[in-house]
Amino acid sequence: MMGGMHNLHAGECEHCLRKYKYSLWHSGFGESSYAYCDTCGTVAVCSYKRFFPAMQPPTSAHFQVIEQEWEHLLAPCACGGAFRSNAAPRCVFCRHELSADYATGHIERNSRSTNRQWRWQRNWSGLYCIALEEPNQPGTLRMVSNPFARPWETPKKKSLMRWTEIFSFSR
Ligand SMILES: [Zn+2]
Ligand SMILES: [Zn+2]
Repeated sequence: MMGGMHNLHAGECEHCLRKYKYSLWHSGFGESSYAYCDTCGTVAVCSYKRFFPAMQPPTSAHFQVIEQEWEHLLAPCACGGAFRSNAAPRCVFCRHELSADYATGHIERNSRSTNRQWRWQRNWSGLYCIALEEPNQPGTLRMVSNPFARPWETPKKKSLMRWTEIFSFSR
């Protein structure tokens, strides 16, 4: 599990009205970008500090949802869906897309204990991404880290480069 993801809060699905647990992830603290699965809503968090130097084309989308040009760099979700720049988190019970506006009530209520001025971004593409807890696996979030398809590891010839060599070239 990634660091900083320990605060689980309660949210409510506007479709089936069931309660789920979630954690907000601050992309700046994680130095990451993200994308949601278009089928199950799992969030893929990509650390650009570690991986982005080797990714092409270069992106300016830091600390937010990935750019569309990068979707093909991500491996499919375990559910068979795809991580898309325009996808949204989904209810873990009824699978409907969650509304970022509807979630404002509980997200702001849950996150204001430290800062009363804090405002939710009201979208699924900004600084914060959300990971929902698996309903029958307490403590397990619907989140994967760096699920890159890793096209740069495909060898042209027999000689495979090591990871560390690729990254030192790209700097
Ligand atoms: Zn629901
Ligand atoms: Zn999925």
